[in-house]
Amino acid sequence: SEERSLNFIEEIVEEDIRNGKNDGRVLTRFPPEPNGYLHIGHAKSICLNFGLAKKYNGKTNLRFDDTNPVTEDTEYVESIKADVRWLGFDWANELYASDYFDTIYGFALKLIEAGLAYVDDSTAEEIAAQKGTPTEPGVPNQYRSRSVAENLQLFAEMKDGKYPDGAKVLRAKVDLESPNMLMRDPIMYRIKHAHHHRTGDTWCIYPMYDFAHGQSDSIEQITHSICTLEFVPHRAMYDWFIEKLDIFPSHQYEFARLNMTYTVMSKRKLLQLVNEKMVDDWDDPRMPTISGLRRRGYTPHSIRDFCERIGVAKRENMIDVSLLEFCIREDLNKTAWRRMAVLDPVKCVITNFPEGQEEIHFGENNPEVEGGDGGRDIPFSREIWIEREDFMEVAPKKFFRLGPGLMVRLKNAYIIKCEDFVKDADGNITEIHCSYIPESRSGSDTSGINVKGTIHWVSVAHAKTAEVRLYDRLFKVEDPSNEDGDFKEYLNPDSLKVINAYVEPDMVTLATGKAVQFIRKGYFCLDKYSTADKLVFNRTVTLKDGWVK
Ligand code: ATP
Ligand code: MG
Ligand code: MG
Repeated sequence: SEERSLNFIEEIVEEDIRNGKNDGRVLTRFPPEPNGYLHIGHAKSICLNFGLAKKYNGKTNLRFDDTNPVTEDTEYVESIKADVRWLGFDWANELYASDYFDTIYGFALKLIEAGLAYVDDSTAEEIAAQKGTPTEPGVPNQYRSRSVAENLQLFAEMKDGKYPDGAKVLRAKVDLESPNMLMRDPIMYRIKHAHHHRTGDTWCIYPMYDFAHGQSDSIEQITHSICTLEFVPHRAMYDWFIEKLDIFPSHQYEFARLNMTYTVMSKRKLLQLVNEKMVDDWDDPRMPTISGLRRRGYTPHSIRDFCERIGVAKRENMIDVSLLEFCIREDLNKTAWRRMAVLDPVKCVITNFPEGQEEIHFGENNPEVEGGDGGRDIPFSREIWIEREDFMEVAPKKFFRLGPGLMVRLKNAYIIKCEDFVKDADGNITEIHCSYIPESRSGSDTSGINVKGTIHWVSVAHAKTAEVRLYDRLFKVEDPSNEDGDFKEYLNPDSLKVINAYVEPDMVTLATGKAVQFIRKGYFCLDKYSTADKLVFNRTVTLKDGWVK
């Protein structure tokens, strides 16, 4: 792989290794909340965390950050594991924050005993009001001075289910005057009588993010806890809890999250698209989810390449989706089979071609593969399908395809000349009549005729029909989350166009997900619902960046 300069997190890790910090050990974690499917933004975090471990002989834990029982589900756990594996990464341990509920509860007792936490009976609104504003300090309420004994008793009662949701919270006694609002006595525990996907009904109090994440990192002895920039203000609490609990000092480092044009990148928003049936499902090929990209025909390699190219920055930016498209084109150019498919067919009759068929040889599946990668024969006959756009009734000067009197080469086959065409009552071309030059066959051409254009074709009698799904950007604006009103108002109404096409006969043997380049048309793969009886192709990406802004 190409040498590049170190990103700022690698610099920190190398510095730590040089200084013998943690005995040179590197342990990262990827901590998804199982409340949705992973998206391309998560891929950036996955590549970063697993990439660091790989580079520095370390390890990475997969930890489900499952402290919010209401939104979480085992379906999401399974999809996350499948997606991380598919991206090409293997975790050292599969862990769950919920496995630490007992330990974290013990941490809370320890802070209560140290006079550093108290049970507060205020409502959420009261707590917010008492916190003050960035320019006004907060004010302590009557609960803040509760005794250790009273706090221990009330907290135990909270745990035992004596109180309804929202009746009480446990708060850290930090600093109501801190310029960092998150330090003004943050909530550690809330009451939630809800069923948890793993702990069932064992708990009715659940730790908040700030009292679960750093504690989980510390329990696992994570050396570098990497998260996105929104968590910068949380770092003070992260460090405070670790210091007061006197537990393993994990450290948090923040990098800029991935934002990408023409999509949204939040599980909450993606869930809305699924629930409101604006897309097929989480794996709709237009979704920025890993499963959507996979179904669309993206490869793990192309996504890792993308994450490497965008790099790791300290400041937020917006990545153009065309970079992701560039990465998949680069990959598929070298690996995808090349085949002929006619997406907008018009019939072409070769009037002087005899009845029956002839085999036309193709010497390779992908010309980029050195030394060849097999070949195939495909049938050619008197009637073929060609692209409607390859014929013009009144052709301009530099149109090197078909028009009255014009000649073109049929890929790997013969030169044909347009003699005539048929129109229906509405003026649509329904048939093109050509003659062929028998001695112009590719590979043994003695015709002496030079034609500039080559077009693709499939034999009418032998072609398979296929449904082809042409995808475009899901949103019609670059940053739908940043527009007025609801982001869903900016969905691109033309993001999916379904057409019927004719493809080469051997396409029925293509494996699901295996890429094919329909020459001159783009990269495609079979959809998961494709069958031998009804082929369904997804367009992964066009051959060139054809997006018109
Ligand atoms: P969302 O807002 O989509 O729900 P999240 O941050 O709440 O995202 P988590 O499941 O908590 O989702 O994320 C797991 C990890 O992935 C976290 O470390 C988070 O920082 C990281 N991550 C999430 N979104 C992005 C992104 N767009 N770019 C980079 N990393 C991300
Ligand atoms: Mg999160
Ligand atoms: Mg979230």
